[in-house]
Amino acid sequence: MKNELTLFDTMSGRREPFRPRHPPRVSMFVCGPTVQSEIHVGNARTYVFFDALARYLRHLGFDIFYLMNITDVDEQVTQAAARAGEDPLEYSKRVISSLIRDFEALKIAVSRFEPVSHHVEEAIRQVGSLIDKGYAYEADGWVYFDTAKFSRWGRLSHQSKRDLSLRPLELSQSKRSLNDFALWRPEVLIDGRWKSPWGLGSPGWHIQDTAVTIPILGTQYDIHGGAYELVYPHHEAEIAQAESLTGKRPFVRHWVHTNLLKTKGQKMSKSLGNVLTVKDALRTCTANELRFTLLSTHYRREADLAGLGSAKRRLEQMRRTAVELGGKEDGDGGSLAQFERALNDDFDSPRALEWAERSLRAASREVSREKASALAASAIRGMRILGVDLLEGP
Ligand SMILES: [Zn+2]
Repeated sequence: MKNELTLFDTMSGRREPFRPRHPPRVSMFVCGPTVQSEIHVGNARTYVFFDALARYLRHLGFDIFYLMNITDVDEQVTQAAARAGEDPLEYSKRVISSLIRDFEALKIAVSRFEPVSHHVEEAIRQVGSLIDKGYAYEADGWVYFDTAKFSRWGRLSHQSKRDLSLRPLELSQSKRSLNDFALWRPEVLIDGRWKSPWGLGSPGWHIQDTAVTIPILGTQYDIHGGAYELVYPHHEAEIAQAESLTGKRPFVRHWVHTNLLKTKGQKMSKSLGNVLTVKDALRTCTANELRFTLLSTHYRREADLAGLGSAKRRLEQMRRTAVELGGKEDGDGGSLAQFERALNDDFDSPRALEWAERSLRAASREVSREKASALAASAIRGMRILGVDLLEGP
């Protein structure tokens, strides 16, 4: 297997050759949605990117296991359930099935979804173990991670001690340091659940992820993904927990983060009233069009939904040419060298899409029918690797 893929690593701050621990196996974890509401296209940008990356890794010959958690243990979920007049676990179940339908509609193939509520026992075990090892302490029914005990705190987000002192977390009188974060909260989110040595309560947000990943992916794995805004404190906290628990580092080989999707220059947020849910988006465009739009900006740049209209026109033009030229996907015949070169270069999907577009334009000018359909066929194949099907109707 030839592997020349490089990916920007948030930890090292530069592009790194992609080197999984046990090739051809690749283990990837991406922070999934919180189930208080539907997912919007801003969330979809992150999930479509990691799906396209997983598909490309499969194309390169890797055998990828893609794990995603679903946050159903959260105050916001309990509040949303109360507003809907439903039991929190029933409410979560319903929203989770709806989320999974959205993922399917977007042609996103996750190997396994894991609701956090199935992993609370493991979270309690990890918190207990961090206390035993001296990395965590109990205070008034809360358990905090003692960040002063972890020398690499701040490394993922490239913050100095002074930077960190300016960004206190979770204000509380009972904490030893401003950066300490909660591992266990005395808040009872669901009646009668969950019992712990520190009383009834619920696991903190960050320990929920290591509770899901360590038993399934092991103490060290290959790719951890998510939106860039999760770097601090969420992913920083995961590293502190995992490396303190297991004594093994690095916890994760490649930290990959996606940038924001804006709409008319603004971040999508409920308070601004500009949230476009995936369900609403898919009423006006197809999954192919949405994926094409989202992949037409490099994952580390800010994107704007304003590009949706022109992306739809570009894709429609490509689709017509592909169908006119025979509409066949080739086997392994046509050259994907330029396509692969683009994606190997920190997953430059805009360049890979431009290559497919150029190939189709060249095909439509080609005199030889045979050459034209071969050019079109490799473009169709490349696009399919990214999960965009040029032969599907408009
Ligand atoms: Zn997470």
